Amino acid sequence: MSTSDFDLKQQNNSIESKIVASLERISQAFRVLLWQESKKFSLSPIQVQVMIFLLHHSEEKRKVSYLADEFNMTKATISDTIKTLEQKNLIKKDYLLNDTRSYIINLTKKGEAITDKVSLFTKEIRTPINNLHQEDKENLLLSLLNIIRHLNKSEVITVQRMCMSCAYYQSSDKGQKHFCKLLNQELQVTDLRIDCPEHEMKKQNLNVNPYTF
Ligand code: SF4
Repeated sequence: MSTSDFDLKQQNNSIESKIVASLERISQAFRVLLWQESKKFSLSPIQVQVMIFLLHHSEEKRKVSYLADEFNMTKATISDTIKTLEQKNLIKKDYLLNDTRSYIINLTKKGEAITDKVSLFTKEIRTPINNLHQEDKENLLLSLLNIIRHLNKSEVITVQRMCMSCAYYQSSDKGQKHFCKLLNQELQVTDLRIDCPEHEMKKQNLNVNPYTF
């Protein structure tokens, strides 16, 4: 493709360009909503994103190096964010007994209470999704998962914990059926996970035979 998706002559004649431009608008909406919610609590958007992540992820993921990979930022930037949140009494560091330089980051009670509120910033985006028909929701989810998987393979986004990048995941030849070897069960589209606690990163060249349904 040699023409920009934002060139209106191109865009108005291309459903693909319209989809790309629509995704850009939605990402703008996320930024605006996150910014508005952050301001209410005198926090920055990245501080809010880190707090939401800390609230919902296990100890091994609540470390500076993991957060740096998760948010595509340097360890120094994440350390500064953590330092500011600590000064605001929203997180505390629990140092590891065998390595006093490493620590697990935990939200304080005050941090948890604020995170519970700010994490609702997506509700305006959720409203039209709630109103879709079930089949449209499933098609939309599958399409978005495929876009995210492609962006992960192309190394645009790094850390992923979705079924399609998981070593336990297998699909049928045409990708219409999905199976989790860990749970030992077929997954319906609604069961596919975008952020699974049991996710195990698939090795890039692992030759996995398709599951036979
Ligand atoms: S372990 Fe989780 S991410 Fe992996 S296939 Fe099973 S449900 Fe999906």
